Amino acid sequence: MYQPEIEAMDREQLVSQQLESLRRTLARIQERNPDYHRRLGSVQPGDVSSLENLAGLPFMDKDDLREAYPFKLTCAPKEDFVRFHMSSGTTGTPILNPYTKADVDQWGEIMARCYAAAGVGAEDVVQITPSFGLFNGGFGFHYGATRLGSFIVPIGAGRSTLQLQFIEDLGTTCLTAIASYPLRLIEVAREEGFDWRSTNLRVGIFGAEVWSDEMRGRIEEEMGITTYDIIGMTETGGVGMGIDCEDRSGIHVWEDHYLVEIVDPVTGRTLPDGERGEMVVSTLTREGLPLIRFRTRDITSVLSRDRCGCGRTHLRIARITGRNDDMIKVKGINFYPQQIESLLLREPGVGNDYLLTIDRVAGADRLEIKVEVQNPGDDTLAGRLARILRDFLAFNADLELVPLGSIERPPGKAVRVVDRRK
Ligand code: ZN
Repeated sequence: MYQPEIEAMDREQLVSQQLESLRRTLARIQERNPDYHRRLGSVQPGDVSSLENLAGLPFMDKDDLREAYPFKLTCAPKEDFVRFHMSSGTTGTPILNPYTKADVDQWGEIMARCYAAAGVGAEDVVQITPSFGLFNGGFGFHYGATRLGSFIVPIGAGRSTLQLQFIEDLGTTCLTAIASYPLRLIEVAREEGFDWRSTNLRVGIFGAEVWSDEMRGRIEEEMGITTYDIIGMTETGGVGMGIDCEDRSGIHVWEDHYLVEIVDPVTGRTLPDGERGEMVVSTLTREGLPLIRFRTRDITSVLSRDRCGCGRTHLRIARITGRNDDMIKVKGINFYPQQIESLLLREPGVGNDYLLTIDRVAGADRLEIKVEVQNPGDDTLAGRLARILRDFLAFNADLELVPLGSIERPPGKAVRVVDRRK
């Protein structure tokens, strides 16, 4: 499924193809949705002579897509829709992304490409643990694996004991999951005396959450697998917009389908390669809900546009280090929860779960960090962690070491932060 004629294409050719696809997408919007076209300042596709012209168009964000519920920004007749997926916002109006048949095909293609980059093919047994439903994960992994002709284990979310049984009995070689789910599986495996090394599992494809390099290392060590970090979201057409490769030198974004810009989250100014900022995505081949300059809120940077060690030429971005929305400000200090995660998980004896609770007491911010450890009575570890956290935060957090398994594990995505100030 590796397609060198596309994935290792000469960049000049790739960029000219992107420009052509961008014009086609703008023409589609102009033709199918006059309101959407007006939003873009009634830009004429023929006037876009280079990709740099994109910077003259307005941004769109999640709120715009929410206000467009259900079909105000769509660019295909309703009878062409075959399905939709929905983003799991915490409250309020959801974001719908309706897919045409061509959109489903596009999704299958990029997902097959992602599997191939992870070394997964027809001979593999692929266990799909994200849910099949409104969340895009389950179906995305399903379409890609169907293209490859892999043996699919479509178990969906939860049922950890059965997950382990299938890994063993069906000879699962590739596990796909929301990034925090492997931690739950590891816990259940420990309780049940499950031996990862006796299984055929060799690849994990995880995403949909920000997971630190330290967390990644622990999962790989415990399960005895190689993991791949996959990106994509409901708004862009689901999981599969990009993935890292065996070279581990950044996440390739499939640029024949997606155009990526990195902008300053405050000023909106386009940032040069290497600088960290918010990823902005324009879709180049989507029909149902094409996006022009969609602000993802994900913080990353362009690492390279040079040919990768794997041979691919599609640009590489850094692993997502945080989401704009996740940024925490305590006592005037800004940080991402994953930065705390990295610091904690570097220490031996520290478990995989932690919880940050922020409160305001007598007008002052207070940060409590609860972290699971093997031995909560280990004063040396407590002292060391307190020092490390103080060096990073420049203030004292209330650190509490708690026994493994004592922090509540809600179903679905992991909860790492509770901010009581809001
Ligand atoms: Zn590569």
